[in-house]
Amino acid sequence: MNKLQSIVVLGSTGSIGTNSLDVIRSHPDRMRLVGATAFRNAALLEQQAKEFAPDWILLGDSASAAAINSGVLPSNTALHAGDEHLDRLIRSEGVDTVVSAVVGAAGLKSTWIAVDAGKRVALANKESLVVAGAIIRQRAAETGAAIIPVDSEHSAIFQALQAGKKHDLRRIILTASGGPFRGWSKSKMRDVTPEMALKHPTWDMGPKITIDSATMMNKALEIIEARWLFDIPADQISVVVHPQSIIHSFVEYRDGSVISQMSPPDMRLPIQYALTYPDRISCPSADTDWTAATIMELFPPDLDAFPALGLGFEVARQGGTSGSILNAANEVAVDRFLKHEIRFDQITHVSRDILNHHTFDAQPTLQQLQQADRWAREEASRWNS
Ligand code: NAD
Ligand code: MG
Repeated sequence: MNKLQSIVVLGSTGSIGTNSLDVIRSHPDRMRLVGATAFRNAALLEQQAKEFAPDWILLGDSASAAAINSGVLPSNTALHAGDEHLDRLIRSEGVDTVVSAVVGAAGLKSTWIAVDAGKRVALANKESLVVAGAIIRQRAAETGAAIIPVDSEHSAIFQALQAGKKHDLRRIILTASGGPFRGWSKSKMRDVTPEMALKHPTWDMGPKITIDSATMMNKALEIIEARWLFDIPADQISVVVHPQSIIHSFVEYRDGSVISQMSPPDMRLPIQYALTYPDRISCPSADTDWTAATIMELFPPDLDAFPALGLGFEVARQGGTSGSILNAANEVAVDRFLKHEIRFDQITHVSRDILNHHTFDAQPTLQQLQQADRWAREEASRWNS
């Protein structure tokens, strides 16, 4: 019998985290949850520990960990508090695969540890690559860590790339749902409220990525993610709007052939593929209904109404510290929008302004990227129109 795949889920209480546990729950013959982390949601992490009996669980701080009733935890499950334990826990020989599903640049630290330790990394945390794509790529090549994308578009590209050779690749085309404000004018978007932006037409996701989808900053981050993940220049990346979210992206080869991956929108499929690649096994996600009449539309994106896209291409071209700046400014701006401190259309202005006056470094170290991140957060917290 094959050994069970030992999996750590970082951010197990989030949208990707709970979907990952659903995949693991469906394959007890192949997969075992050995560790799980959450920031503050002790109640859900406790419930997950009771069901999966992992070797350990970890919460962001001791105040959150104190909310766990350790008496009800399975006898083999150790409880930890604080990021300082992550290094030892992730590097453990008993860990095969790490699902990186924390939200924001906060996920970089654990993604880096997993890559540095040469693990298989099922990467949902796109912000890691946006901030530090160049050095993560380089480190993965040195340690032999396999970074398999969970982001649905990048999973689709990863799959479509298997149909040809890298040097025959002409272009990759990321699909975007267009979010809830597709077709809206710039001026109409001034009045968008957090409640309106938190409703996504096709995907059910955590709040940060839902707002990013509404501004299309999510696609900007995905352009940068693709640039580093597939080592492809920005001018070979395009974006098309596809409101039905069935075609998850395209790859175009030298001969004009276009290969895509399609499935109903359900993150369990790309999550599972990142865990089982190169194998394919049955998945708890919904299958395509081939008896239903289905329309699949494609539109060019509106770069004027969604200026975030332009920023994505620009940062993918520049590299260096610019990804770290864009990401940090955007995280703070999204937070300030959710607190009603800035308008919806100002989220992208914040990133534009801060990118414009940052001191660019073409080859930063991890530490310099973290400094750039801190600087951009301070600037974005102070930003005023
Ligand atoms: P979420 O908000 O639903 O969950 C985030 C998880 O991270 C939670 O478990 C939370 O406890 C943990 N967390 C939050 N802040 C933390 C911190 N400072 N330190 C440690 N842990 C922290 O987010 P999500 O929608 O699941 O997204 C997770 C990642 O996956 C993001 O990078 C997102 O861009 C990416 N992603 C998500 C989807 C999706 O469908 N939700 C699709 C593609 C990519
Ligand atoms: Mg995506």
